Amino acid sequence: MSSAIAIAALLILASLVFYGIPFAHRRWATRVLRDRVRASRTLVLSYDDGPGPELTPRLLGLLARFDACATFLPLGQRAEAAPRVLDQVAAAGHEIGCHSTQHRHAWRTLPPQSTLDARAGFRSLARWAPPDGLYRPPHGKLDLLTWIWLGLRGARLAWWTLDAGDTWKVRPTPESVAQRLLEAGGGVVLLHDFDGTPERSEFVLETTGALLEAARREGLSVRALGPWLAEA
Ligand SMILES: [Zn+2]
Repeated sequence: MSSAIAIAALLILASLVFYGIPFAHRRWATRVLRDRVRASRTLVLSYDDGPGPELTPRLLGLLARFDACATFLPLGQRAEAAPRVLDQVAAAGHEIGCHSTQHRHAWRTLPPQSTLDARAGFRSLARWAPPDGLYRPPHGKLDLLTWIWLGLRGARLAWWTLDAGDTWKVRPTPESVAQRLLEAGGGVVLLHDFDGTPERSEFVLETTGALLEAARREGLSVRALGPWLAEA
């Protein structure tokens, strides 16, 4: 009986270390990021889960109208299905990182599944994303193995400070997202450029426009995440 309790305690402790260390690091890194965007009055637009053959080209047109550079964090499997779209993203000068290939949730799969998913993502995206480029964990969740593996290859984690809410059940208004950006003094904004419902796509476009308008009006600089992080 006592050995069963000891094993259970050990398993709990191991889980706390395995998931807790990357989680604590994320909380710390996000706080640092919040301070940095505020201090430098910066807007970073980041788009996950793409590319979307319908939405991504429209987004590129909008970004071009504002002469804005953004960061795209596509999924390997979607990139393989629509490589020409990602070629357009790269040709327009935007930054491309990695968001895994199958979007596995690190806390809901057994190790090393999420590490393998990250590795497969970098392989699928090798044409566009540098091997030590940005990595955004699916659902924002990491385990220790993936965290160490990313560190060893020199990849940088792409956390965010402001979720625009485009995947929420009840979406905010684009204006309220822009307002939150200004109240925070800047932000790394999380959006998604996969093809979902037409309403969601319109929200992504309108919110991107509202954020860029607000940044222009208030004098925030608009940057891609990697080059801006590298300045620290
Ligand atoms: Zn995602």
